[in-house]
Amino acid sequence: MISAAAARGCAPVEIDPAAFSPDCRVRRDEPLARHTSMRVGGPADLFCEVESELALAELVRHARAAHLPVFVLGGGTNLIVSDRGVRGVTVKLGRSFARTEWLAEDAEGATVVAGAAANFKRVVLEISERGYRGVEFGEGIPGTIGGGVRMNAGAFGGEIADVTVAIRGVTAAGELVRLPRAELGFAYRRLDLPRGFTVTALEMHVARGEADAIARAIADAKRKRGRHQPLGQPNAGSIFKNPSGDFAGRLIELCGLKGLRVGAAQVSPQHANFIVNTGGAKACEVRDLMHEVRHTVWRRRGVWLEPEVRLVGEW
Ligand SMILES: Cc1cc2nc3c(=O)[nH]c(=O)nc-3n(C[C@H](O)[C@H](O)[C@H](O)COP(=O)(O)OP(=O)(O)OC[C@H]3O[C@@H](n4cnc5c(N)ncnc54)[C@H](O)[C@@H]3O)c2cc1C
Repeated sequence: MISAAAARGCAPVEIDPAAFSPDCRVRRDEPLARHTSMRVGGPADLFCEVESELALAELVRHARAAHLPVFVLGGGTNLIVSDRGVRGVTVKLGRSFARTEWLAEDAEGATVVAGAAANFKRVVLEISERGYRGVEFGEGIPGTIGGGVRMNAGAFGGEIADVTVAIRGVTAAGELVRLPRAELGFAYRRLDLPRGFTVTALEMHVARGEADAIARAIADAKRKRGRHQPLGQPNAGSIFKNPSGDFAGRLIELCGLKGLRVGAAQVSPQHANFIVNTGGAKACEVRDLMHEVRHTVWRRRGVWLEPEVRLVGEW
């Protein structure tokens, strides 16, 4: 069978199959549209689902030796993957990275370690239901803990940086490391990590809270999301970052762009800073619509919007 890479006229990527640990499941030409909330994206040359830190370390070392780029996929909820797909190795952390571990729990607070593949919303609920506060902002943020760390995910005035004690991960050279908070460069919807770094776990400190107040904050976040976001259609969350002192959605709406379409990609009529896939959209349509919105807001309002979503792959 001809591989997708060969069909595109590229040399098929190779790592000696013997190099793969039994803790690493490999699929070739895996369609990434299946792994992104926008439901767009072409094939990953090598899609590797790993189940241990050692398997991950081996994989990145082999990829490095073979000069293959490595891309780490979380829940795919903040990504626009190109129609041509992603070259090299796409890493997905498996279920064994989805556990939470409670350390040093007392009357004041607790230290929790969440695996990078754990579902962000589930971890938020687990912490909140156990009577700790500080993560209620994350109610309804889809994706994984690893993606949340990388994006410094946040909402309603809170963000992952607020509760971070340290992150654990694997470097591009295959070393297992722990980076304490003081060494982490968190910024608005961004954490600058060393190139090729894969987050494997997040250590958080959360304070003991009052059960009713926590439940109210969670319910409040849920209500706001349900009212304002187009949760029934494939999307990738906020497309642009909010510029300082303003809201991207407000500016886009002021320019009359709600409902604007390129092919099957549309600026959501419900929330102007969301682009929705109305059915069968291509990644290039989403990208072209982003381009159109960005330039229109620049021309009419003088603000150059920065994307919050990440465009990845071969464009
Ligand atoms: C309906 C909807 C609502 C949303 N609301 C919010 C919101 O309120 N606030 C908010 O901040 N975001 C929001 N988002 C965006 C998105 O959910 C977050 O950015 C989320 O944290 C991304 O996590 P992910 O696992 O899906 O990451 P992905 O989209 O898979 O990846 C995002 C980036 O993180 C990197 N990455 C992923 N995992 C790892 C890892 N283990 N190690 C290193 N790098 C990694 C990827 O390479 C990529 O660069 C929303 C999205 C949707 C669809």
